[in-house]
Amino acid sequence: MRTMKPAPFEYFTPATLDEALALLAQHGAEAKPLAGGQSLIPAMNFRLARPAVLVDLNRISELAYVRSESGGVAVGAMTRQRAVERSEEVARAAPLLAEAMPAIAHPQIRNRGTVGGSIAHADPSAELPAVMLALDARFRARSSTGERPIPADEFFKGMLETALEPGELLVEIAVPSLPPRSGTAFLEIARRHGDYALVGVAAVVTLDVRGRCQAARIACLSVGDAPVLLVEAAKTLAGQSASEDLLRAAAQAAATRDVDPLSDIHASAAYRRQLVAVLTRRALARAFERAAENPS
Ligand SMILES: Cc1cc2nc3c(=O)[nH]c(=O)nc-3n(C[C@H](O)[C@H](O)[C@H](O)COP(=O)(O)OP(=O)(O)OC[C@H]3O[C@@H](n4cnc5c(N)ncnc54)[C@H](O)[C@@H]3O)c2cc1C
Repeated sequence: MRTMKPAPFEYFTPATLDEALALLAQHGAEAKPLAGGQSLIPAMNFRLARPAVLVDLNRISELAYVRSESGGVAVGAMTRQRAVERSEEVARAAPLLAEAMPAIAHPQIRNRGTVGGSIAHADPSAELPAVMLALDARFRARSSTGERPIPADEFFKGMLETALEPGELLVEIAVPSLPPRSGTAFLEIARRHGDYALVGVAAVVTLDVRGRCQAARIACLSVGDAPVLLVEAAKTLAGQSASEDLLRAAAQAAATRDVDPLSDIHASAAYRRQLVAVLTRRALARAFERAAENPS
């Protein structure tokens, strides 16, 4: 009698990154890395995923760290989401990331779920992909044959699809430091706290010495197959001082030109568009305010 919920699989527990990479190279597309298991194990239990080989990364301590780096912060892929939420380095160097962490699921899930797992999973409703896109993060991917950097802009390819090749692991996420006079904000709407958001917005704004918008990166989650950079909204802000009218114009550009959400069982496309407008306006207002308070 079959007692397992998932399809049968071989299971390996490498203790080092090199061992894990060798196993992934050996088994190719048949193998999947296992991080916190908070998405992969349910998918296997429903038999939506049927990897023949699981390479468990949980014993690889060299992949779990948070380090200050050139004013920014570097996070190892196996760092638990809860550790990032509680990290002083993250709070100091990447307040946007710190602000978004509590919006991910529940503490029990963040205790197991990893930063790398969430990013590699690339759920378009997940917080971390959108936050990393807004922060212009740089990912480091490793395989048994070498290493390459992948900018967040080029990483998210579609629904649960990334630039990672079979045999490649995401090993580090580097969040660069923000220039002086920068401010950030994260906002989302979920039906219940801990649920995946109906829409979320992560905003980064940098002001020039006269208080005008010098740069803006705004990313949106839950509005397509992948996180969406709100390019038209950012263009609206360029060279402008914050005002009610400006923020409304940027929010309008976001909702009408940057996103093309679909209807699903959770929300209609029209409602999602409305949320994009409201959350973009509010997140930008907060980011401008914080940038003005942050002259150093
Ligand atoms: C009830 C519930 C609610 C949730 N709510 C939210 C939410 O609101 N927001 C949210 O963002 N998430 C949510 N999650 C998902 C959670 O954040 C997961 O932790 C995350 O999606 C996956 O991280 P993980 O470490 O568990 O990865 P796993 O489930 O172990 O792996 C996920 C996928 O990524 C691959 N992978 C893992 N690590 C790597 C790596 N280093 N390199 C390459 N590939 C890798 C795996 O092979 C697998 O395909 C929820 C989960 C549950 C169970």
